[in-house]
Amino acid sequence: MAAPILPGSTLGILGGGQLGRMFCTAARNMGYQLNVLDPDPDSPAGHIADDHVEAAYTDMAALDYMVRSCDVITTEFENVPAGSMRYLARGKPVYPSAEVLEIAQNRNREKAFARKAGLKPAASHPVVHESDLEQAIRITGLPAILKTATLGYDGKGQYVVESLQQAQQAFRDSGAVECVLEKKIELKQEISTIVARNRQGDTAVYPVGENEHRNGILHITIVPARVDEAIAAMARQQALQLVEELDYVGVLAVEFFIDSNNELLFNEMAPRPHNSGHYTEDACVTSQFEQQARVICGLPPGDVTLLSPVVMVNLLGDLWRPDWPVLLNEPDVKLHLYGKKEARPGRKMGHYNVLGSDVEQVLKKARAIYSRLAEA
Ligand code: ATP
Ligand code: MG
Repeated sequence: MAAPILPGSTLGILGGGQLGRMFCTAARNMGYQLNVLDPDPDSPAGHIADDHVEAAYTDMAALDYMVRSCDVITTEFENVPAGSMRYLARGKPVYPSAEVLEIAQNRNREKAFARKAGLKPAASHPVVHESDLEQAIRITGLPAILKTATLGYDGKGQYVVESLQQAQQAFRDSGAVECVLEKKIELKQEISTIVARNRQGDTAVYPVGENEHRNGILHITIVPARVDEAIAAMARQQALQLVEELDYVGVLAVEFFIDSNNELLFNEMAPRPHNSGHYTEDACVTSQFEQQARVICGLPPGDVTLLSPVVMVNLLGDLWRPDWPVLLNEPDVKLHLYGKKEARPGRKMGHYNVLGSDVEQVLKKARAIYSRLAEA
């Protein structure tokens, strides 16, 4: 087994958004050098990396430079071209692997894989041709949600449909690209968990977070999740099954639905740290970003113990510029900003974590602060 990659070495990352930025911050604290590849000259991670390569993810010279200058390479977003990761892997260790990214990049492949690993996605059927819709509806029933198979995020590329005609229209609106039709679940709750695995196969699973979305975008994560211990344990166990089955190395987020019958359903996975894991930055012994650095370097996963109940709230561009003192005057509120200059509706600009001894109190406080920000 190769020796661990130690501080002083250079970690490369494809993608320079906020997840890359928080990864760079955590890894730099540990003494690593950071190289970021991202075409955007104004990328949040590029601002703080030792080296920011401003080039396309398919630029061969840039990829060759990453191979030469980095000791290990990771990514912060699932839609990085798998071919680029495969190319990099010929020269240096790359985690997660191109094969895993290819599964996570396509909702149909992802659901099939999750089923194979023993998880239970909502009833669904691939839609490649418009003529697949009738059979798909027989499987999912109505209402259903048509989702594009690739490139969806924050609820984009999703259509709720109540009839075959609406489904046909939605399929045409999608550009008739590969889709999946999914049963529309009556959601009782949504939860997620983050799991990490190194190349030796050591794993660590974070406590389960309870997620609230607004307009298809994560709004709040509550930890500990207010769910039966048996359901939380099952979610963590299933996340472990997934990383074992994938032979995964890195940090993986797994999103679940809990339906009105209290059944745990697999929603999707993200082969990287996740917005719903930002609570770990202030409330766990090891943040998800430090964890990413540790496991890609072949170190044992850090302790994932929750030190305090916590609620994370996203700050989107809709609500900009916030009344900063509302956040900064609170001693138990931790503000995180991503250094993005341009605020657009729906764009993730930052988040805050509220800590305290009682999760209901913390949630109340987090919501009260949000209302004050929204009013200002
Ligand atoms: P992200 O990557 O930001 O999590 P995404 O675009 O990949 O988002 P999903 O996780 O598929 O989207 O869906 C976003 C949200 O839409 C879910 O968290 C859930 O609230 C709702 N949703 C999605 N699929 C279903 C479904 N089958 N039944 C009920 N609600 C759903
Ligand atoms: Mg999602």
